[in-house]
Amino acid sequence: MRRLAWHVAKLAEIRDETPTARTLVLDIPGWPGHLAGQHVDVRLTAEDGYSTQRSYSIASAADGERVDLTVQRVADGEVSPYLTEELRPGDELEIRGPVGGWFVWRPDGTRPVLLVGGGSGIVPLMAMIRAREQAGSRTPFRLLYSLREPGERYYAEELRKPISGLDVTYLYTRVVPDGWARPAGRVTVADVNTGGWPAEFRPECFVCGPTGFVETVSDILLAMGHDATAIKTERFGPTGG
Ligand SMILES: Cc1cc2nc3c(=O)[nH]c(=O)nc-3n(C[C@H](O)[C@H](O)[C@H](O)COP(=O)(O)OP(=O)(O)OC[C@H]3O[C@@H](n4cnc5c(N)ncnc54)[C@H](O)[C@@H]3O)c2cc1C
Repeated sequence: MRRLAWHVAKLAEIRDETPTARTLVLDIPGWPGHLAGQHVDVRLTAEDGYSTQRSYSIASAADGERVDLTVQRVADGEVSPYLTEELRPGDELEIRGPVGGWFVWRPDGTRPVLLVGGGSGIVPLMAMIRAREQAGSRTPFRLLYSLREPGERYYAEELRKPISGLDVTYLYTRVVPDGWARPAGRVTVADVNTGGWPAEFRPECFVCGPTGFVETVSDILLAMGHDATAIKTERFGPTGG
């Protein structure tokens, strides 16, 4: 198996997504390119030599040596508060990747696509939406995006504009906008039935988010008759190490 190299990335720009999540735009000399859905390992090393690493999905479609990550600050976390609060443009980070060959969408795919994201699980799904746009693909996409409240939407402006062939459904778990028909609550069979594809359409399904969310949605899809091999999952548990 090919050994992945560590690269030194420079932070080019920071974009606020929400009060607690930021997109880090990185320039990575020697970056080999990536597929939508892949992630990277980020390594931080302190002056005393202590080093720690975490995984982060790539948010952007392939774009030369530029890679976007979106990091949610986890209160009391070791790495995410540093990445979201301390890092400044011009600072350097060590990055290894791209990692993962299963949870990927390729623009030559023709089957309809269902994307189901919980919280920061939207990140690799957004890379797929962006890769579809970049390739001029007409593959029909449906996105179910579960999040606590409207203020936690990542990529809010980009997803607000209509994208031909992409249907977006927001599932709020705690607070809904005024006049919103669906009451606040976790994802249900009815949500996936209404906002997803019938199993007979044989969609490729990508499910990403916290472990419990991924398991619930996978069980719903299986119960609806979707083929287990068509359900690809990525769990954002703690990575540590
Ligand atoms: C393949 C993969 C891709 C990922 N992609 C992203 C991404 O695109 N954006 C992103 O923000 N994160 C992503 N993560 C999660 C990320 O790797 C870290 O786990 C997260 O940033 C927390 O790290 P930390 O050092 O701040 O917290 P830690 O110091 O590791 O943990 C602090 C406390 O928070 C808990 N905790 C850790 N991670 C989480 C979490 N994700 N949710 C809730 N509680 C947690 C721990 O159990 C612990 O109690 C991904 C994880 C995986 C496995």
